[in-house]
Parts: sequence; structure tokens; C-alpha cells
Amino acid sequence: MPVYQFICTDCGRFEAAYSMADVPDAATCACGASARRGVSSPALASGGAAIGLIDRTRATADAPAVVDRVPNASRTAPRPANPLHAKLPRP
Ligand SMILES: [Zn+2]
Repeated sequence: MPVYQFICTDCGRFEAAYSMADVPDAATCACGASARRGVSSPALASGGAAIGLIDRTRATADAPAVVDRVPNASRTAPRPANPLHAKLPRP
């Protein structure tokens, strides 16, 4: 069940769990006042593979890795699947 954040004008922020179908626009605070629903960032799992990939992608955008050669430069051209293709004239 997702946790929603509500903002009381007197007490500040508090969280309450509601189902996505039943979440109200305002909840009652512990002080009795009505608190409107706020907007907060979702709680993403830290240290996961997806977060690590996003962090590495952002890092390469700002400071790309320095390389001393072209990646995969030692690869040769792929061999043709049919050996008869090797006898065809080359440009
Ligand atoms: Zn309150």
C-alpha cells in the first residue's frame, strides 16, 4: 500500500498509507486540522542495478571516460555465413 504525504499548516508534514483507489485529497492531522495531500518523490531502492546504471549514465554525460584507443578496434570484419561469398569480387 503506497504511503502518501500530507501537509498540515500547523504541524508540518506527515505520512499516511492509503490504497491508490481510496487516497483522499485531504486527511485529518493528529491535531485535528485538515491536511492537504502533498507531492513527494517516490522512494526508490538505493543501490539497485537500475539506479547504478542511471548514475553511471549521468556521470558519463558530464565527464566521459578517457580512452587511449577506439573501443573494439581489434575486431575483424565479420566472416560471411556462406563461404562462397568470399569468392565474390570486392570493390
Ligand atoms: Zn496538525
